[in-house]
This record gives sequence, structure tokens and C-alpha cells, in this order.
Amino acid sequence: MATLVLNCGSSSVKFALLDLAAGITHLSGLAERLGAAEASVTLRAGGEAWDQPIPGGSYADAFAVLAAELDTRGLGKDVEAVGHRVVHGGEHFQAPALIDGEVLAAIRACVPLAPLHNPANLAGIEAAQATFPQVAHVAVFDTAFHQTMPEVVYRYAVPDAWYTQHGVRRYGFHGTSHAYVAEEAARRLGRPLAELNLITAHLGNGASVAAVQGGRSVDTSMGLTPLEGLIMGTRSGDVDPGLHEFMARQAGLSLTQVTAALNQASGLRGLSGGLGSDMRELEQAAAQGHAGARLAVAAFVYRLAKQMAGMAVALGRVDALVFTGGIGENSATVRAATLERLGVLGARLDPQANALAVRGQGGLISAPGSLPALVVNTNEELAIARTAAQVLQGVTA
Ligand code: AMP
Repeated sequence: MATLVLNCGSSSVKFALLDLAAGITHLSGLAERLGAAEASVTLRAGGEAWDQPIPGGSYADAFAVLAAELDTRGLGKDVEAVGHRVVHGGEHFQAPALIDGEVLAAIRACVPLAPLHNPANLAGIEAAQATFPQVAHVAVFDTAFHQTMPEVVYRYAVPDAWYTQHGVRRYGFHGTSHAYVAEEAARRLGRPLAELNLITAHLGNGASVAAVQGGRSVDTSMGLTPLEGLIMGTRSGDVDPGLHEFMARQAGLSLTQVTAALNQASGLRGLSGGLGSDMRELEQAAAQGHAGARLAVAAFVYRLAKQMAGMAVALGRVDALVFTGGIGENSATVRAATLERLGVLGARLDPQANALAVRGQGGLISAPGSLPALVVNTNEELAIARTAAQVLQGVTA
């Protein structure tokens, strides 16, 4: 039996069909530019990749291509569950949920909290339910893992009514990834997750840090929206909330324009003077002496180390540091510079191990006697598939 994982964005769908028992991915791919004339589906299977244009295509058209391919390969009948990545579950969802009318309504109620993401997730779920009507659909939330954060951590010091009436609080994101790498790190350390206090850093285009105590999130750097916390590819991370009014007065920007600039023109892109948001390119430019790129990389590392050190307060005792995401898994430079600043936590780098961990296997990158630091490759598709299968077992057991 196989689990189909769907991650629906506003104009794209990432998908993968996994056989958990056999530990293989039968098929994966990406539908892009949905709604546009150039819409297409890229499918990957057996080491090959090919494109199928679906001009003006919708989620339904993309799923039709996927379903036809599954049938051609005789896999259609094996699909047991569809796991959907859903960005915001608010306070309603502490765990993944088997999708029914009530769950759809609750996801819809969270739209104001994630106005760009949840509508796309909902549209994707509805189209997938129409294409794959015979199977269970499970929603796996980015926020659910962090619902275990205590109130002192998740409340903002703002008027009480903002929280009680509008849900203004810290939620956190990347929960599936933080949970997965925490579990994987425990396995690699050969210790029970229940006994471990971990600081996990998910560093991709979006980036966040979490404090994971015994497998439960007790703090994270993202908040009400995925804009809070670390410097990211194009997102500012923490800024002074007074900045909005300041820029409105000084530059005549609207709230929408300020928010768009903080989401799309800030972070590494902003600091590098517009050079780019891609860490790999910035590292190359920094090595060639580009001042903006150097600043961007150095500021990224400083803010990351500061957030990670702050998570020690949430945990009391730190047993290991975990790096993941495109940057965490691949950038030996960022990891080395971050660990150098985290000497304060007792972390010391093993430069050779750090260089080797670039090759995609992950592993320990700290020196003997140091606070252990590891690279763990995240696998959100696998985590969502496992979660969906567990929900299904819980329901059918
Ligand atoms: P993700 O969102 O997890 O795919 O991560 C994307 C980020 O990882 C981008 O900033 C990439 O530049 C970065 N990245 C990927 N490979 C490397 C690499 N070899 N060195 C540095 N950064 C990398």
C-alpha cells in the first residue's frame, strides 16, 4: 500500500507517492504555474523526469495527470491515504486530522491567520478529494507540533483582547520538519527522544529554530506568521514593530507595501543589496569579496546563533544541536560560523566532519567532548506520509 503526499501552494503542487513498508518513493514531482498558460506537471520516477504541459491547468488538471500516471503504472489501486500539508491549524489542531466536513471548516476558520497558504491548501484538498474519492485524506499541520509551547512562550505582550478575540499569539511553523529531525537525531545519538533536549534549526528559504524537549516543542522562533524570528531568504525575521509606521511616514508606504517588502525584499536579499536570496550564491559572492553578500551571510549566522542560544533558556539543559533544511544540510560555512558563536553552549566544531557532512549523509559535526551537533536531512514528505498512515491506523484500529 502507498501514501500520496500533497503540498499545495497558490500556483504549485509538490507530490510524492511513498511506500512506507518498502521504504521507497514510487513517483514524485511538481506541478507549477497553475492557472497560467505555461502550467505543467513534472513527474519523476525510476531516475527519469519528464514534463507534461497543462496550459491554464488547475489543481484538478494536475491531479488528473498524476492519477493517470498512477493507473498506467498500476499503482492507483495501492493508494491508501493522501496526506496534505496544511500550513495553519491555529489553536484548533494539536495533531493531524482525518479530513471531514468539520475539519475542512476548521481549516477554513484559520484562513485569516494564513491568508496566502490556507486557501491554497483547502482548494488542493477539495480537488484531491474529487480525484481520489475512495481513500482517506489526512491534514498534517505545520503549526500542530508547536501547540505544546507553554503560555509564557506563545503569548505576545499585547492587549489581551487581541489574543482572545483575534488569536494573536505565537504559533510557529515547520513543525513537521522539526519533529522529524528531532526523532532522527535521537536515533543517531542512540538515545530515547523522551530524554533529550534538542535545539533544531530548519534553515531553508524559510528558516526557524525550535526547542524540543522530550519530543515536544517548547519554543520556536516563528510566531503569528512565518515572518518572525531568523533572517531568511527574502523575509526580514524580527524587526521593531515600530518600523511599519516609521516607513509609512517616511516613505509613504502602505501597510501592505511594508509587509510585502518584509516578506519578499528583505532577509538575505535585502541585506545583500538585492544580490539574491540564495545562500549558495551569496557564499560564492562573499568569498569573492562582495560586501553585501558578506554582511548578509554574517548577519544570518549571528541571528541564528543568538536564537539557538536563546532556546537554551527554554530547555534548561541542551543535549544536542541539529541542523537541517537546504542551508543546514549543505552549507558547511554557515554551520561552522554558527558553532563558533555557540561556544557559549559548549559547542566545538570538528572541521573535517563538517566538511564531510556536505555530501548529503548528514552526521555528527562536533568535536569529541563538545555539545553534540548534527546534520540531519529533513524529509517532510516521508514525515507527512508516516503521520497520515498513523492517523489512518488510529482510525481503523
Ligand atoms: P530549502 O528551502 O530547504 O530547499 O533550502 C534552500 C536554501 O538552501 C537556499 O538558500 C539554497 O541556496 C541553500 N543551499 C542549497 N544547497 C546549498 C549549498 N551547497 N551551499 C549553501 N547553501 C545551499
